[in-house]
Amino acid sequence: MEENLIAERIRDVPDFPKKGIVFKDITPLLQDAKAFAGVIDGMAEGAKAYPFDLVCGIESRGFLFGAALAKELGKGFIPIRKPGKLPWKTAAESYELEYGSDTIEIHVDAASGGKRVLMVDDLLATGGTMAAAIKLVKKIGGVPVACAFLIELGFLNGRKKLGDLPVHALVRY
Ligand code: AMP
Repeated sequence: MEENLIAERIRDVPDFPKKGIVFKDITPLLQDAKAFAGVIDGMAEGAKAYPFDLVCGIESRGFLFGAALAKELGKGFIPIRKPGKLPWKTAAESYELEYGSDTIEIHVDAASGGKRVLMVDDLLATGGTMAAAIKLVKKIGGVPVACAFLIELGFLNGRKKLGDLPVHALVRY
């Protein structure tokens, strides 16, 4: 039942933030206690197969699911943020967008000593963001073990960019 309830609570917003993009709006899902809990349960179920120490969430919607999942599974949480937001020493990774490029940052001591990290974001599109996040965690000495998403836009083949890491998604388009 959760799969349906979850998919029903994801709203398509055409031409946001720009023409031609169908934005997957997750705010109706977050508002619904059952659907939100269903997502965290589903992600937790998928993550069970991989021993890991930390959950890493990507700003900003990755925080919503990553932090709740970390609490659910009794793990710590580490944030990946946009440039200039993290107060301590950071490592950075840049990646190409359709027009221009973007950069993300992490604290250098977030996953030291080979900590095993479950990577979380709300949505997998082209895979550029998650590929950069994986590189970033490796750069600071962590070991990404798997990626968990709420939504996968399968037609964009984002999985291809994530190497041989296992990828879990609860809803696919
Ligand atoms: P990508 O790097 O192309 O895989 O894009 C993934 C990131 O962009 C995620 O953090 C998503 O939140 C956001 N994103 C990309 N496409 C969409 C979309 N159609 N609807 C909502 N968010 C999106």
